[in-house]
Amino acid sequence: MKIHEYQAKDILRQYGVVTPFGTACFSVDDAIKAAQEMGGNVWVVKAQIYAGGRGKGGGVKVAKSLNEVRQFAGEILNMKLVTHQTGPEGQIVRRLFIEQGVSIAKEYYVGMVVDRSSQRVCLMASSEGGMEIEQVATDTPEKIHKVFIDPVSGLTDQQATKVATKIGIPEQGHNEARVLLQGLYQAFDQTDASLAEINPLALTTDNHVIALDAKMNFDDNALFRHPEIVALRDLDEEDPIEIEASEHDLSYIPLDGNIGCLVNGAGLAMATMDIIKLYGGNPANFLDVGGGATAEKVTEAFKLMLRNPSLQAILVNIFGGIMKCDVIAEGVVMAAREVQLTVPLIVRLEGTNVKLGKQILAESGLTIISADNMADAAQKAVTAAARS
Ligand code: ADP
Ligand code: MG
Repeated sequence: MKIHEYQAKDILRQYGVVTPFGTACFSVDDAIKAAQEMGGNVWVVKAQIYAGGRGKGGGVKVAKSLNEVRQFAGEILNMKLVTHQTGPEGQIVRRLFIEQGVSIAKEYYVGMVVDRSSQRVCLMASSEGGMEIEQVATDTPEKIHKVFIDPVSGLTDQQATKVATKIGIPEQGHNEARVLLQGLYQAFDQTDASLAEINPLALTTDNHVIALDAKMNFDDNALFRHPEIVALRDLDEEDPIEIEASEHDLSYIPLDGNIGCLVNGAGLAMATMDIIKLYGGNPANFLDVGGGATAEKVTEAFKLMLRNPSLQAILVNIFGGIMKCDVIAEGVVMAAREVQLTVPLIVRLEGTNVKLGKQILAESGLTIISADNMADAAQKAVTAAARS
């Protein structure tokens, strides 16, 4: 799950990470009021969307007067902000963040992710702040310093100071940098984050270390113990199809291809997409109906796939374990009738009650292309999609 920058900063502040003072706003009038109340003479008007690269896309502007706050807030609110992370369709800006302007001497990058191979949280830091870290990783990987944090000792004083030195924070900033990095780790650990990023971390002209941007993602599997984080969810920022899918307890991710995939189990779903690719096709989606899918759930899954105008074939690939093949076959028949299927349907069933399942499909009167194994199913789907 993702949250907005201002929400991430609220969380990080609770762990001692210093940020500029700021207020989230939903209208231009609120933005001016917020700027007036916080005082000072430089404000930054920032679009709040679940994507980075806002600055380059015109979604972050420095205002030097209240008139400019009004002007920029008016320009940014409701704009369609296109960044390298939103894709060409962009994202409508519905929330603003008005923040005190900080006088920057130097920008750095710090971020944390879970490193699966070492089973630790990895702190990444770089002197190259304000840039896309992916670009730094490609062009100058030696400029990214990594620390794998021991879960028992946490990020130690020595480790934090060493990182600050390596990325070039001057010595008078080391204390503040250490407190900030340790706070970032505490926040990451306590909230079950999957990613926490401060880009840029700034050294101000008066030598303070402060987070100017903040991004946090959370592990969906741990959200059950963080209702306060779930409450921050902004559905306007999420793909409506993915929201609907999650309401039906389906894992659905739209992709660019034309072969819809309905599979039980995430691993089998990945393998199905791979084998479609192997035979020269392109999957239209990832879809895992889970272990205990009912006929209703399968119907919802069909409806989701059929909303995609590029869809030219559907491949159902089920391995019946806990899920019995006859149940899924009944679901497929019911769904195909209800949604009045217009694209070829290829079905591969294997496992518990497979004979009964195949019989139900054969007797349904529907035109179903039956497949014997995954390779057969993928080839048939690719051919059917090319023809339709
Ligand atoms: P994004 O990463 O989406 O482009 P950022 O929050 O990183 O958005 O803002 C882009 C740039 O704007 C930063 O690299 C920084 O130079 C500047 N900036 C952001 N917030 C402030 C602030 N409060 N004061 C001064 N400059 C800021
Ligand atoms: Mg940034």
